[in-house]
Order: sequence, then structure tokens, then C-alpha cells
Amino acid sequence: MQRRKMTKSIIIFLVFFAIGTFLWLTKGNLFYLFNFTYIGLSVSIGAVLNSILSSEKKMWSRKITQLMIGVYLLGVLGFLGHENMQIEGFFFYLLLGSFTGPVIHYFIAKIFGTLLFGRAYCGWACWTIMITDFLPWMKPQKGRLKYWGIFRYLHFLGVLFLILILWMFFRVNDHEYISFILFKCLIIGNLTYYAIAIILATILKDNRAFCKYACPIPVLMKFGTPFSVWKIKIEKNKCTECRLCEKTCPMNIKLLVYMKSNKRIASTECIACQQCVNICPENAVQYTKGFDFEIKQYINYNHIKKSE
Ligand code: SF4
Ligand code: SF4
Repeated sequence: MQRRKMTKSIIIFLVFFAIGTFLWLTKGNLFYLFNFTYIGLSVSIGAVLNSILSSEKKMWSRKITQLMIGVYLLGVLGFLGHENMQIEGFFFYLLLGSFTGPVIHYFIAKIFGTLLFGRAYCGWACWTIMITDFLPWMKPQKGRLKYWGIFRYLHFLGVLFLILILWMFFRVNDHEYISFILFKCLIIGNLTYYAIAIILATILKDNRAFCKYACPIPVLMKFGTPFSVWKIKIEKNKCTECRLCEKTCPMNIKLLVYMKSNKRIASTECIACQQCVNICPENAVQYTKGFDFEIKQYINYNHIKKSE
């Protein structure tokens, strides 16, 4: 089993290395090779740690990968390289028809990547949650707030609207000026995101509150996620319905409802964090590949009592 997981880690690394090599050769820029090799290495380190650490410590594998990728994307590409890897950078460069860093990142990690791994980016690479995940509320203390998720859609539309205005009415041909504006947006935007994420997490006692109620990126990722090849699955014959997985799920997903209807966890809220896999005492939860599709969402809006 452990050997199989090790092989998987090597395959993951080789896939990223192949993408980097392909982009290096087609675009003539060695940076792509470095970039994808580093990301592949970060994911593989997480996968290796996940296969050797004990169940209680497995969460560290994800946190380490998240930190390695998050610091790289925000610190190295963003602050040092002046690339706005946020959603406004993606929209803007896309409108300009410029197939550069932010556009490639969004297409691979947040659009086409969701067809393979769903929202694994949110679970393993987000540079906002890499900070709040060190707060003490990994397990949500309450059910989800029912209508607050709408703020993510409003945020998404607001950013899109602002970028369209900038694109239509400002000096879009002056690339230096635009890069300067986008770099300012990166700094101000991220400081604001961190402040909101920490405040929300503290008030709601939920490390992932920003993810659930404020971040615009899931809106984009929700299109591909239901089709994702890799999804969580509960083996019905092994499950004793202790509900430990549901109580642990940071995204408040009703895993047992999917299991009882013989479905994999197709929720667009699943971030592939694998907390449910690690906690199950019966080894009933697995991260599996397959082809299926489900539109219905089952989310816990009520608090799951400890005794349940
Ligand atoms: S933790 Fe395992 S046994 Fe318990 S409800 Fe979840 S899948 Fe079933
Ligand atoms: S269902 Fe499992 S993998 Fe998905 S968010 Fe919940 S705990 Fe994480």
C-alpha cells in the first residue's frame, strides 16, 4: 500500500515535470520548467508525507504542501516577480489575450485541473488559507451559515465588473502602467483578504470561513468540479455510520448522504483535503478515480452534536 502511494508521488512529480518541459520547449522560457518542477516537488513531498505519517499527523502533509506552494505563488511570483496571480490578474491578462503566468495558472489549477482533481487547489495550495489553517478551528464548530455563500458570487461579479471597466476605459496598451496597477491590487487585495480571512475564522471559529463565504475563486471552480475524475468515496459495506468523517469535514459536507445513495462525494465544496480519509477508523473512505457526475449538494447547515 505504502509502495503504491510512493509510486503515485513519483508519478505526480513526473506529470508536473512533463508540463514544465512542454511549456519550456513550446514557449522557449526556462522559467516554466523551474515553476512546474517546484510545484510538482511540493505536491510530491505532501503525498510522500501523507503515506508515511500516522493518521493524527497526516494533516501536516497537506499543510506543508499548502505552505510551500502558497509562499511560492504569492511571495516569489507575486511580490518578487510582480505577477498578479489573483483573479483580477487572470481576468485582465485574459482580456488582453496575453497567455502569461496568471492565465496559465488559472487554466491549469482552477479551470481544467478541476476536471481531474476538483478543488484540490483550495485544499492543498491556497495562499490565504495557508495562514488560517494554523488557527485552532480545523473542524468547524457549527454548521454552515446558509445564505452567506452568496457573497462569493457577489465578490466574483464585482471583480469582473471592475476589471471590465479598467479594460474598457483605461490605458490598457501601456503594459507598464497596467502592471503597476495590478501589483498594487495584489498587495492591497492580499492584505485585505488576510484580514477578512482571520476575522471571519475567529468570529465563526472556522479556519475555512473565508473559503465558504468570501473567496470568489470557488465560483470559477464549481463548473468543472462535479465532473472531477478523482473524488472521495465511502465504501458502504465498511462504514459503521459513526459520522466521524462528517464531524471532521472542514467544508460541512454530508458525506453519508452521498454514501447512502451509492454516490461518490461530488460536492463542489469538497476541497480534497482528505481529513475524512485520515479520520475513518474503518478505512472506509478513499480518494478514488472514476467517471460520474452529480449536481445535488448536501451540506450540513446544522451543528453536528458530539454525541450524534
Ligand atoms: S468515519 Fe468511516 S465509518 Fe465513520 S461514518 Fe465516516 S465513513 Fe463511515
Ligand atoms: S469530504 Fe473529505 S476531502 Fe472533501 S472537504 Fe470534506 S473532509 Fe475534505
